[in-house]
Amino acid sequence: MSTYPFDFDPKEPFMQQASDWIADVFYERLPEAGFEVRDEQIYMAFQLERAYNEKKTILAEAGVGTGKTLVYLLYAVMYARYTRKPAIVACADESLIEQLVKEEGDIAKLARHLNLTIDARLGKSPDQYICLNKLDGARFEHEEDGERFRDLYDSLPAFVRQPDSMQAFLPYGNRKDYPELDDEQWRKIGWDVFQDCLVCSQRHRCGQTISREHFRKAADIIICSHDFYMEHVWTYEARKREGQLPLLPEHSSVVFDEGHLLETAAQNALTYKLKHAVFESIITRLLEGEVREKLAYAVEDAIAQSEKLFDLLEKGSRRVSGSNRKDVVITDALLQEANRFRSLLAEIEEELVFESGLFTLVTYHLTIVEEHIEMIQLALGLFVQPKQLISWLEEDRDGMSLVIMPKKVKEVLEERVFSRKMPIVFSSATMSVSGSFDYMAGTLGIRDYLSFSVDSPYDYQAQMKAALLPDQNDTDKTKLVLDLMRLTEGRALILFPAEEQLRQFKASIGQHPEAAGYRFLYEGSAEISSLISAFQQDEHSVLCAVTLWEGLDIPGPSLSHVIVWELPFPPNDAVFASRRADAADPFEEVDMPYMLLRLRQGIGRLIRSREDEGYISILGQALNQAEVRSRIAAFLPSGTERNTIC
Ligand code: SF4
Repeated sequence: MSTYPFDFDPKEPFMQQASDWIADVFYERLPEAGFEVRDEQIYMAFQLERAYNEKKTILAEAGVGTGKTLVYLLYAVMYARYTRKPAIVACADESLIEQLVKEEGDIAKLARHLNLTIDARLGKSPDQYICLNKLDGARFEHEEDGERFRDLYDSLPAFVRQPDSMQAFLPYGNRKDYPELDDEQWRKIGWDVFQDCLVCSQRHRCGQTISREHFRKAADIIICSHDFYMEHVWTYEARKREGQLPLLPEHSSVVFDEGHLLETAAQNALTYKLKHAVFESIITRLLEGEVREKLAYAVEDAIAQSEKLFDLLEKGSRRVSGSNRKDVVITDALLQEANRFRSLLAEIEEELVFESGLFTLVTYHLTIVEEHIEMIQLALGLFVQPKQLISWLEEDRDGMSLVIMPKKVKEVLEERVFSRKMPIVFSSATMSVSGSFDYMAGTLGIRDYLSFSVDSPYDYQAQMKAALLPDQNDTDKTKLVLDLMRLTEGRALILFPAEEQLRQFKASIGQHPEAAGYRFLYEGSAEISSLISAFQQDEHSVLCAVTLWEGLDIPGPSLSHVIVWELPFPPNDAVFASRRADAADPFEEVDMPYMLLRLRQGIGRLIRSREDEGYISILGQALNQAEVRSRIAAFLPSGTERNTIC
C-alpha cells in the first residue's frame, strides 16, 4: 500500500500537503464521482487542519447531512500514516461501529471513489464476544437453550474444541455472527464483568483475545465504542503494571463520534459491580487447598459478612419504577458493615501472604482470589465516601449486584486524556448550549479547545412535517401509533425512552388486528445490526427501539416516519438523582436539557439526504405542559410543526 495518496515532499510541512489533498478531494474528486460539494464540509476541513496541526481538541458541531464523517476520516487516516500509528474512531455504541464499516458506509465510499485502501478494523467491547467458560456452563445448564448452545459450540472453529499444536487462530465468536440470538440468550454466553480473563485457562483460544490481537495491527483506523476507549484509559496503567498490553495500541489521534455522550461512557467504565454469589464462589476456592484454620475461619466470616451486607443493602433500598434498579439508602449502619467487610478482606489478604509461602494453594486460584479482593477493596473504599459516588442495586436472573460509580469523571479525563498533546475531535450535531460549548467542555475536563458549528444543509420546511400529540386520559397509544403508521404504510422508527415501554407496546400490539399487516422488528429480539439491516431492506417494516435515538443513518423511504412514544426525559435513577441533587434548578439544568438533546437526536434520524421526506410524530403525557410543548416547538425547524398530521 503506498503511504500517501499524494506526492509527499519531506521538505514541506506534512499537514499542509495533506490538507491541500483533502481540499482537492472535496472540490474536485468527490464532485467528479457524483457527490454534492458542501460548503460545510470544506469549512470543517479547514477547522480540522488547525486541530491536527496544533495537536488540540476540537469540538466540531455539524448538523445532519454536512458529511462530517468523510472529513474526519480523511484527516484521521492521513495523520495515522504520517505518524505510523492508527487513529481511534470511538462511536457511541456497538451498532454505530458497524454502520461505519458497512458496505455502503463512509469508509467504503472513500475507498471506492478515491481509490484509497483503508485498513480499518473493529475493536469491539468484551461483551460482544462469546465467553467460552460461560458457554461451557450454558451448553449443559440451561434446559430451554441447551440444544441451541450445543449446536453453537459445534460450529466454533476446530482450534477451540480440539486444541492441538501448530493451529492457526482466526477471529470468531462475535455477537454479530449470531443474529438469531436475542439479548437474553446472549447474556447467557457473552462475556460479562464477572469473568476474569487475566487468569482464564481458555484465554488463548478465546475469540475476544484473538480479535484483540487482530485489531491491534490496524495500520489506519481502529473503530471502537466510547465505552471501550474509556475502559482502555482507565485500565492502561494497571495493565502495564501487570505486564499486559493496554487494550488499545499507541494511537495518533482520537475521534469521538456523537461526542456529547462521552461523559456517560467515562462513568460506566469507572464503575464497579459487586455480587455476593460471585464473591462466595471465588473465595471458597481457597478452601479447596490444605489451608490453615485461621484462613478458613476468615473466609467463612467474610462470606457471612458479605451476605449480611447485601441483605442490609436490599432491605434498605427503594425500587426505581420502570427499571431493574434500586436506590441504595446509605446509613451509618450500612457504612459500618461495609467497613467491617473491608477489615475481614484485609485479614484474608494478610493470611494469603503467609499461605502463598507454604505453597498449599494452586497459584491460579490464589491469583483469582487476590484480584477479586483487590477490586472489592477499591470499590468499597469508594462506597464508604458516599459524597463522591453514585450507587445502586441492580437485579438480574442471577441475583443482586451493587453498582458503584464515581460522580464526576472530569478530573480523571483531564489528566489521562485531554492533557495529552494529540488531536482529539468531538463530532456531533448537538454539543453547544445557546451557542456556547463551555457546558460540555466543563463536564469533560477540557480546558483548551477549538470549536465551531455548522448547520444542516437540508430544507426541513419542505422535507418534514412534525406533530405534537399530547396524551389524553383515554388515549389508546398503540392505536394512535397504528393510525399514524398508515400515513407512511409502515416505514417507521418508533423510539421508546425505556425498555419497559417497548415491552408494553409489544404486548399490546396483539390486541389490534390492524397491526397484523406490518412487520415489527423489536430491539433486543436479535443482534442490533441485523435488525437495522432488515429494517432497511424490508421497506414497509417498522423498527421499535430504545437505543437508536442517536447515530442511526438510513436514507431513503424505509425510514419515512419517526414516532416518539414518550418524551425522553432522563430516568429516575441514582445517576440522575445525583445530578439533580447538585443542580440549583434540576428541571432546567438536568431534565430539560437531557430531554431536548435526545429528542433532537431522535428527530435527526428522519432526514438523511436531500431527497428524504417524512413525518415526525411526538406523543406523550408531558406535552400537556405548555412550557414543555413550547420548548419543543421552538427547536423544531421553523414551518414544520402542525397540530395534527393525521
Ligand atoms: S478469556 Fe475471558 S471471555 Fe474468554 S473464555 Fe476466558 S473468561 Fe471467558
